[in-house]
Amino acid sequence: MKKEMISQDNCIFCKIIAGKIPSHTIYEDEQFKVILDVGPATRGHALIIPKNHFTNLYELPEKMAADAMKLAKKLMIKMTEKLHCDGFNVIQNNGEVAGQTVFHFHMHLIPRYKEDGEILKYIAGEPGAEELERIRKTITE
Ligand code: AMP
Ligand code: ZN
Repeated sequence: MKKEMISQDNCIFCKIIAGKIPSHTIYEDEQFKVILDVGPATRGHALIIPKNHFTNLYELPEKMAADAMKLAKKLMIKMTEKLHCDGFNVIQNNGEVAGQTVFHFHMHLIPRYKEDGEILKYIAGEPGAEELERIRKTITE
């Protein structure tokens, strides 16, 4: 019996999964499709996309989150071998404020090269021990 797909009509990644929009697929299995990003940060930038629609990591079932990370590791190793990159970023954005622009869960696989410049940068804060302790309590208590 064929499993029912969870998809959303106006979602660009659901359309890619359904084959309505073309993509450059580098890996596919029952759960995931992995495609090259059309606006790559570096050469080989790819996206792990679940075939079912989940908005973000909050919604993604735990098992699928684990499987996505396992796949990230597997592909990172293969892509490093094939592309001869020098390092790797695995990034995943949740919510507009966090930089998410496509609201169908995905994980970015970004090969890094010695000469590719600073593509991801944030300014490190200086909270101090007291503030860090307040935050720790907020999270854990
Ligand atoms: P995020 O900002 O984390 O939501 O990432 C969305 C990513 O999807 C961006 O890096 C886009 O370049 C990429 N993207 C958007 N449309 C397509 C498409 N049709 N094919 C491949 N990648 C896409
Ligand atoms: Zn979708």
